Amino acid sequence: MNLPEKVSICEVGLRDGLQNEKVIPTTDDKVALLKGIIDAGYKVIEVGSFMHPKKVPQMADTDEIFKRIGEVPDDVELRALIPNTRGVQRAIDCGCKKVKLNVSASRMHNLKNLNRTPEESVAGFADCVKMANENNIAISGSISMPFASPWEGRTPVEDVDAIIEAYMKVGINEISLSDASGQAVPNQVYSLCKHVREKYPEASWWLHFHNTRGAAMANILAAMQAGMTRFDASFGGLGGCPFVPGAAGNISSEDVINMLDEMGIATGIDVLKVMALSRKVGELVGHGLDSYVLRAGRSKDLIASQTE
Ligand code: ZN
Repeated sequence: MNLPEKVSICEVGLRDGLQNEKVIPTTDDKVALLKGIIDAGYKVIEVGSFMHPKKVPQMADTDEIFKRIGEVPDDVELRALIPNTRGVQRAIDCGCKKVKLNVSASRMHNLKNLNRTPEESVAGFADCVKMANENNIAISGSISMPFASPWEGRTPVEDVDAIIEAYMKVGINEISLSDASGQAVPNQVYSLCKHVREKYPEASWWLHFHNTRGAAMANILAAMQAGMTRFDASFGGLGGCPFVPGAAGNISSEDVINMLDEMGIATGIDVLKVMALSRKVGELVGHGLDSYVLRAGRSKDLIASQTE
């Protein structure tokens, strides 16, 4: 089996996880969680978003979190989602050094989500990139529904290519493929990952899988076999999407890290610390979490418990 020696995991629970919750942790609790995430060994963390606070009230304190966390180690990247240049301005004002744009590969989803066509979104990216570059802020782009969407079914590869090329045209080479609706399946993931890596070798890629239909772990394996090494995950499998009917959470961080640990693939992240964080998150949001490892424990711990 063709597998990488090490992979990067980005913890997206503070953003994708919490943005659909009814009970939102306080800013103090979020800052404590962020410190815990850094302490667990994560090098890439999605802290929040600079969307309009009326649209996503759960993320209204993202600026405050950046201000309170202050300086982090040089090798730790804290990123936030932005919708437009106002988002870049908020990043500048609060000390955020990495921002991420998003466009939907589904025309209908993009209209619902952002009130504009994918082409109109792409036209606006150039201003964001210019402003970010001038202010020393790194910028990346995400494509949601590159595999399939609830409204249009399988996404044509040509549509994905067109968006990738639009990103590259404005100077964005770090691109995330986000299966927000949880419709991707492993053979499709393998072929699209292989296709984009071969066609756009200058780009770097993130994969973002929701576990809506239980295929996220298999999709990660398929993506790794196609050479991908960067994956988003959320503590306790928290998450959803306000625009996708029946959407479930992201793949759970501890499930992914436990599996990679057992496979001998390095992440640099302490799964026991992640499990403790996820339990804490469960207390804060007040409901059960969609995480196998939280229920069953690590497979590694079974032998120890038998010899006690
Ligand atoms: Zn997501």
